[in-house]
Amino acid sequence: QIKSEIIAVGTELLLGQIANTNAQWISQQLALSGIDVYYHSVVGDNLTRVYEQFLQASKRSDVIIVTGGLGPTDDDLTREAFQRLTKLEMVEHKASMEKIASFFRKQQNKMTPNNKKQARTFAGAEVIKNNVGMAPGMIVTHQGKTWVFLPGVPKEMKPMVTNHVLPALTKRTGEFSIIRSTMLQFIGIGESRLEHELKPIIDQQSNPTIAPLAQDNGVAIRITAKADTSKKAEQLIQQTKTQILDGVGQYCYGVDNETLEEKVFQLLKEKDWTLAAAESLTGGMFSDKLVAIAGASAVFSGGIVCYDTKVKENVLHISPATIREKGTVSEACALEMAANVRKLLDSTVGISFTGVAGPDTIEGQQAGTVYIAIVTKNGNEQAEKFTFAGDRAAVRRKAVIKGYEILFN
Ligand code: ATP
Ligand code: MG
Repeated sequence: QIKSEIIAVGTELLLGQIANTNAQWISQQLALSGIDVYYHSVVGDNLTRVYEQFLQASKRSDVIIVTGGLGPTDDDLTREAFQRLTKLEMVEHKASMEKIASFFRKQQNKMTPNNKKQARTFAGAEVIKNNVGMAPGMIVTHQGKTWVFLPGVPKEMKPMVTNHVLPALTKRTGEFSIIRSTMLQFIGIGESRLEHELKPIIDQQSNPTIAPLAQDNGVAIRITAKADTSKKAEQLIQQTKTQILDGVGQYCYGVDNETLEEKVFQLLKEKDWTLAAAESLTGGMFSDKLVAIAGASAVFSGGIVCYDTKVKENVLHISPATIREKGTVSEACALEMAANVRKLLDSTVGISFTGVAGPDTIEGQQAGTVYIAIVTKNGNEQAEKFTFAGDRAAVRRKAVIKGYEILFN
């Protein structure tokens, strides 16, 4: 297995003026191509330190990808540092030189000598044309190691990686160049339970790979297939997907970027049902997610944010007896909220959220205590008490997700 690493050159990165998004993006691309990344590092615009970083990389990695420091100014030292390490000869790259010269002609500007620096490439390097800016990229093979030099500017760097670097590297590493990946989204089943259920499938195969990952709103399974054509990769994914869904399909609400609220929206739409929400601690967050979906009006009647007890009494008509005897954070209050909002807004289903977002306790109830109730027109009603961990924002977020989870089931 080949080891790769990414070195970002630039003092502005060390100063925290910009984030090292190049390393993040390149890592994602390498992962999709099945190339392991072992290290990320950042080094400032200093010849000795860049050289030392290169020296270390040459000892531990097979593929070294360097971004930044290829520009015309004196602080762009990537070439110099690599030359110090390898003693490789530098030559002027004709096409790049011509491009720079013509740029200056068009600008009617005199080219300064340091601009020529950008056209200097290492002898024997595979030169990667820069279609956006000036400095070309390079792939250099030296003492069995593959070095890739890329400009720091993301929009110059990215097309080089996609169009040249990844195909060149996968060719060298013998990896299949086509990688397809899909995510299955689950709710209502924990990560360990899901992993347990899928263990036979996970153990028996290495392509596609199956990886569960815990998320805020449930668990996802990533299926990644490698093949020499995209058709074969997609077939592999399809087979594995069917296998997985045969076992635990009832918990799967979506694929890739499909969201739980979209699934609930579809389910309601199929049944021709409408929904109304009474939201206390969630303050409209539940309704907001539904309204964000185009066409929401087909299923969403509306919501009432009944944060203050007075609103629960005067607008939602929760009986004073319930509030007095059970409190607003109670199963009884949640059920009345759901029933009344459904009736008031003339909907098929009413859902309600009442609880303690925190940090303080309310009516003697701990922060994180939440009641969610659902009442339907044909008389079904359910209410459940939850204890969510985390701060105010987390409790509110988890309550909303739980609401959708209940509707999904
Ligand atoms: P140029 O030819 O434009 O000078 P260069 O190869 O010399 O490019 P740098 O001068 O190091 O690259 O960086 C140019 C700009 O690209 C930076 O100011 C920054 O905005 C962006 N950049 C550089 N490195 C990174 C990185 N690792 N992540 C994200 N952006 C970066
Ligand atoms: Mg520069």
